[in-house]
Amino acid sequence: MKSLNLRSIRLRSGEEYRDEIELELTPLEYGGQRYVPVPDTVPGQLVVSRASTGTVFQLRFVARLHGPCYRCLADAVVELPVHAREYQATNPEGSDELRNPYLVDDVLELDAWARDVIALALPDQILCRPDCKGLCPVCGKDLNVEPHEHEEAEPDPRWAALAQLRDELD
Ligand SMILES: [Zn+2]
Ligand SMILES: [Zn+2]
Repeated sequence: MKSLNLRSIRLRSGEEYRDEIELELTPLEYGGQRYVPVPDTVPGQLVVSRASTGTVFQLRFVARLHGPCYRCLADAVVELPVHAREYQATNPEGSDELRNPYLVDDVLELDAWARDVIALALPDQILCRPDCKGLCPVCGKDLNVEPHEHEEAEPDPRWAALAQLRDELD
């Protein structure tokens, strides 16, 4: 289900519409990487409650995204339980606060809404595991597989010569 036409459910003030829906999720770009929902169709609960002053829209679902770990680039999975809420006033009078941005001409755009709430629910860093050690900044090897440290690099002899020269000039 990608959208819901409110005219088709004919909700009157004081009424509530509940539906178990199938949401179609799309891959998203995050931090320059691509994250793919698996599965890409998930069950969701949609509730539309109408009062005389406005309508409340609620959407719940759980998304599972697969993509590269932020630190080591190995496969990572993130599970996001989502509960989103939007409000549309009966008379919004130009105020964006009182408007549901996913409601266009009485059609609720579920796919756009689901995509945005997933993006908002994402953690700052998607990791393969919370204590991922990442890649070595010196040689690029995976520190989870091959934990290691590098010897302190020898100072470049040319810099030493320069430092000596500077000392002599002082
Ligand atoms: Zn990792
Ligand atoms: Zn290294």
